[in-house]
Amino acid sequence: MPTLPDTPVASLTHRGVTRWLAGHPWIYGGDAGVADDVPAGAVVRVLDPRGRCLGQAFHSRASKIRLRRVTGDERPVDAGFFRDRIAAAAALRRQLLPGEHSYRLVHGDGDGLPGLIVDRYGDYLVTQFLIPAMEERRELLADLLVAQTGCAGIVNRSDSAVRALEGLPAEKGILRGEVPDPVVYREGQVELAVSLLHGQKTGAFLDQRENHIVAGRYARGEALDCFSYAGGFALQMARRANRVTAVESSAAAAAQIRANAVRNGFDNVEVVEENAFDFLRAAQDAGRRFDTIVLDPPAFAKNKASIPGALRGYKEINLRALRLLNPGGTLVTASCSHHVDEAAFEGVLQAAAADARCDVQVLERRGAGRDHPVLLGLRETRYLKCFVLRVL
Ligand code: SAH
Repeated sequence: MPTLPDTPVASLTHRGVTRWLAGHPWIYGGDAGVADDVPAGAVVRVLDPRGRCLGQAFHSRASKIRLRRVTGDERPVDAGFFRDRIAAAAALRRQLLPGEHSYRLVHGDGDGLPGLIVDRYGDYLVTQFLIPAMEERRELLADLLVAQTGCAGIVNRSDSAVRALEGLPAEKGILRGEVPDPVVYREGQVELAVSLLHGQKTGAFLDQRENHIVAGRYARGEALDCFSYAGGFALQMARRANRVTAVESSAAAAAQIRANAVRNGFDNVEVVEENAFDFLRAAQDAGRRFDTIVLDPPAFAKNKASIPGALRGYKEINLRALRLLNPGGTLVTASCSHHVDEAAFEGVLQAAAADARCDVQVLERRGAGRDHPVLLGLRETRYLKCFVLRVL
């Protein structure tokens, strides 16, 4: 079915066409010509230099990313289109995670819905509308999400810093229904209570859900979870380890870990409200030893300029962690900086192991959970790296 003839157009340069055909869904300003009167948020037909249609994209004005591919055909991008894409995303989660009720339901470009993030915590959803095209369709999308999931409420957490790059203000609030605070959800055998409205990110870090469970399987003896947030790693480890020390600098998050430990009946979780860099240094000075350590810091590299400092930060914490591990101990170490790719992160780990003078086995190379699908051709969707290492 052809699109309406009055759909605005974007003309790609040869370089833009090459990128588009290679499968890269983002086209930068220099590679796309768009008339001045085409508003941000519009769906545009994407043309090659000879005027042939390559598909359709969302248009942005403020952002360096001028176009985001929505589809390679001319099907109308209307309510039915969004309904089908949301249904397809939901079907994938049912297939990948049968019986689970908490996961990322829509992962932006990775689900063919650029600029839309939807996390599901049981009966409640959290949305992020990150580009003008999604922001404009907010009410439609909320209605479609309620119809698709039957959720009891939606929290909008469009307070992510990336909205500023699109000229959108930071906003948060209740979008549909009523949402308790905190909301309780499950990860494997563990129950976690988090605040969807006031917590970090969308209330929790669902991208680490599968890694939390994996870390729980490796945990034994004395365990340490640095940068713990609500205790996603710490509580999985508490099921097997003798004792878990959770280190977290935010008072609100530290209180959540304590409450979550009580909720699950764990009396072997010690919460330390401290800067993890200081904790690791002091632990080393005090001659402490651990059998299992998790490092899951915030993104140290927020932009290209901060990469060198970020690499030094990753090296410092990983070096200290390796020195604190008993022989045979496990280190689960993550980086969510998309400016530091897996090869660079691996290089840091190797340098840390060399300085610690230990031989290290790579047991697993992991990423975000399968509910955060990576789009082949879009490196930016592969932001989370997580290594499981064992000290020989
Ligand atoms: N591991 C968590 C997510 C961690 S997000 C999970 O899987 O759910 C990073 C956490 O580190 C945040 O909770 C933040 O408050 C905390 N943080 C940031 N800087 C820190 C520091 N220097 N020391 C300790 N915690 C820090």
